[in-house]
Amino acid sequence: MNFEQFGLDPRILAGVRAAGYTTPTPIQEQAVPVVLDERDVLGLAQTGTGKTAAFALPILNQLAKGPLRRVRALVVAPTRELAEQIHQSFVSLGSRTPARSMTIYGGVSKGPQLAGLRRGTEIVVACPGRLLDHIQEGAIDLTQVEVLVLDEADRMFDMGFLPDIRRILKHLPAKRQNLFFSATMPKEIRVLADEILVDPATVQVGVIAPAETVAHALYPVPDGLKTKLLLAMLEQTPTGRVLVFTRTKHRARNLAENLQKQVYRAAALQGNMTQNRRQEAIDGFRSGKYDILVATDIMARGIDVAEISHVINYDVPDTVDAYTHRIGRTGRATRTGEAFTFAAHTDESMIRDIEKVLGAPIERRRLTGFDYGAYTPERQAPQPQHRPPARAPSRSSATPPNPSARARQAQPASAARGFGGSPASRRSPPRPG
Ligand code: AMP
Repeated sequence: MNFEQFGLDPRILAGVRAAGYTTPTPIQEQAVPVVLDERDVLGLAQTGTGKTAAFALPILNQLAKGPLRRVRALVVAPTRELAEQIHQSFVSLGSRTPARSMTIYGGVSKGPQLAGLRRGTEIVVACPGRLLDHIQEGAIDLTQVEVLVLDEADRMFDMGFLPDIRRILKHLPAKRQNLFFSATMPKEIRVLADEILVDPATVQVGVIAPAETVAHALYPVPDGLKTKLLLAMLEQTPTGRVLVFTRTKHRARNLAENLQKQVYRAAALQGNMTQNRRQEAIDGFRSGKYDILVATDIMARGIDVAEISHVINYDVPDTVDAYTHRIGRTGRATRTGEAFTFAAHTDESMIRDIEKVLGAPIERRRLTGFDYGAYTPERQAPQPQHRPPARAPSRSSATPPNPSARARQAQPASAARGFGGSPASRRSPPRPG
């Protein structure tokens, strides 16, 4: 299958080529033709599957014909970061078409958004709260919307946005195409989908199980040793870009500061930061200024950095869903990655729930050479270690050594070793035992 077979406008195919996409991902294969047929779609797909282009391409195709400078496509997303990412996809894939896209979200001044709306745009990618503000102030006309996309609907529910969504729906024309994407389908989301969708085609890629390109490993460790374990792991594991998740904003900030003290190029991404500082952290991570981003769940939602080699769960997430979303950050599209989870004794029941969704136990590992003190992970985590892992790690393609991980100028001696540590330590991942 190739993109030419969809019968897309040549200007959009040029955008696809410019983005470097050669083969449609499975969700694109399934969704693009039905969206082009103007059918409603229920898309069960997690981030990292290529779902943005799955709806962006047919929408751009539709917008290439018909009137300009009125809002004809509305995409609603839970976070600013995700909204920005979707907007960038429209800009990049639609660069050869006349369609314009803009974002609307809170935490930034309304002025540029109002100016953009006055100039006229065909695509609006919005977070619910600020969009409602503009609606209530009469600044945006949604009566000409032809396509509505609700992206990451389950996350919008988690964040308490469903009442806002229902309010927004009242301002849209009744006759429109609806594209509804969610990684999971809790009851509330099923109800909302039933309310919105008319005879939808269901497209489904890996409903809840995390991306198959990701290998998982669990490192039992007491909470007090986590930072030391992370530092030791970064020393001896060949990694590229590393996304570390913590449970709270404070833990994200403190851990990022700790890593910086050890001269890692690390940044925090957490809710107490201003929008500017958050964007700086994301941009810096994307551009390679930072090798490590320490984030909380909500903040990390929209990060689209293709080269993330490792997701490290410094803290086990609160829900299985959050685990799925976190590790969807690595192994995006066709790349591979690894997800390491630090698990304290109290995390056992959540780990069991995650393993149920994965359909197999997660391989337990113990970092070779690390001083665990009196702690004996084997006793704390009763799962036998000889069981097959959730998925065999594919080391060859997963983790290119990245000697740039430490700030070179700051510490030439350790820069020579970099993340990968000594060449010997790059041979294989740390194993249990
Ligand atoms: P998404 O699931 O939409 O967040 O996309 C995940 C990542 O895959 C993004 O970095 C996209 O740019 C990338 N991507 C989407 N479609 C393709 C494709 N057909 N080929 C290669 N990369 C893609």
